[in-house]
Amino acid sequence: MIWIFIGPPGAGKGTQAKLLAAHLGIPHISTGDLLRQAIAEGTDLGRLARGYMEAGELVPDRLLLGLVREALEGPATKGCILDGYPRNTSQAEALTEMVHEVGQKVCGVIELEVSEQVLVDRIAARARAEDRADDTEETVRKRLVVYEQQTSPLVEYYRERGVLRPVAGEGTIEDIRDRIFRVTEERGRSS
Ligand code: AMP
Repeated sequence: MIWIFIGPPGAGKGTQAKLLAAHLGIPHISTGDLLRQAIAEGTDLGRLARGYMEAGELVPDRLLLGLVREALEGPATKGCILDGYPRNTSQAEALTEMVHEVGQKVCGVIELEVSEQVLVDRIAARARAEDRADDTEETVRKRLVVYEQQTSPLVEYYRERGVLRPVAGEGTIEDIRDRIFRVTEERGRSS
């Protein structure tokens, strides 16, 4: 049971991925959180990833592989919510292979749809609340461009494979949460 969240920065992926993980009783795996943890711990991975993250760019695919593989083979053996991975087509292909190797299945890909104005407002609010180094105006703009160019093609990738589940990402946290829960319940009934 693997659910993937896709959406631009500020779409609410982290918040909603955590709520769904708690609801389904499976781990929430955020590659952004794992990378921030590696930076905080001063590991080799953290040192290599830091510059890319601060610039709002994607960390090279090969640096993510080990993190995701470890999660799928360890805490996520019964499934997980993937938040922030995959972020481009080659990561999606690597994930398909890894998921197959560990004998799991992608149940669905939740695409959070949010207008640009709401994204900008939410990111500004998060920058005030969390003091994230990559939430400055310049990096946010860069991350939106990176999303458009590299991550948004995944919407088509997963639509073609019949697993895309678009969800309106505007409204209260509870409204969005309930829409997502309904999507996962429908999937549960149809499988
Ligand atoms: P997030 O917390 O998901 O917004 O991720 C924050 C930053 O971590 C991104 O802007 C990237 O620099 C890096 N990152 C997180 N996940 C990935 C990934 N799957 N591939 C490449 N870079 C990533």
